[in-house]
Amino acid sequence: MKTVTIKDKEFDLFLTEEVIEKAIDNVAARLNKDLAGKDPLFICVLNGSFMYASELMKRVSIPCEVSFVKMSSYKGTSSTGKIKEIYGLEEDIKGRTVVIVEDIVDTGYTMSLMLEQLVCDEPESILVTTLLLKPDALKHDIKLDYVALEIPSDFIVGFGLDYDGYGRNLPDIYKIKNS
Ligand code: 5GP
Ligand code: MG
Ligand code: MG
Repeated sequence: MKTVTIKDKEFDLFLTEEVIEKAIDNVAARLNKDLAGKDPLFICVLNGSFMYASELMKRVSIPCEVSFVKMSSYKGTSSTGKIKEIYGLEEDIKGRTVVIVEDIVDTGYTMSLMLEQLVCDEPESILVTTLLLKPDALKHDIKLDYVALEIPSDFIVGFGLDYDGYGRNLPDIYKIKNS
């Protein structure tokens, strides 16, 4: 079994680049079919989605725009706890077909906040694609239109996803050991 060590943690190989790319082929084929003639704007969520966005967009063959945002992440001072806001979006999305490109949906909290904020700018429609979904961890009622791969709720790294800043450059996906 191929393993990697990142800082204090050991990870086992879980999904190879070949498996990931096959799943991305499927999502791209569906997007090319569903979004033909719709002039979509793809909004990729940095940092985690950079590798998925790159592989996906190489396979999207319809005319489209590609843009990048971040979600701010800081502890709120109120009792509501964590507050996250989209930043870096320069395009006007009013009347547009928007496709959010995410790395992973875990509880769905981040995606539910993104959707709430984007809806305020009156796009014609918002579609969501995520490379990975942890169905057993999902707590929020969100519409996920294009899921490349469903995985168990264990912590993973690679293909854009990090452990404490490291591991994003790994071409395969690794799962934390002993979980
Ligand atoms: P959610 O808001 O859906 O609970 O969590 C979404 C965010 O948590 C992701 O965008 C990602 O930053 C982080 N996350 C959730 N699960 C994992 C995981 O297994 N590995 C890594 N590296 N990040 C994760
Ligand atoms: Mg993310
Ligand atoms: Mg992270």
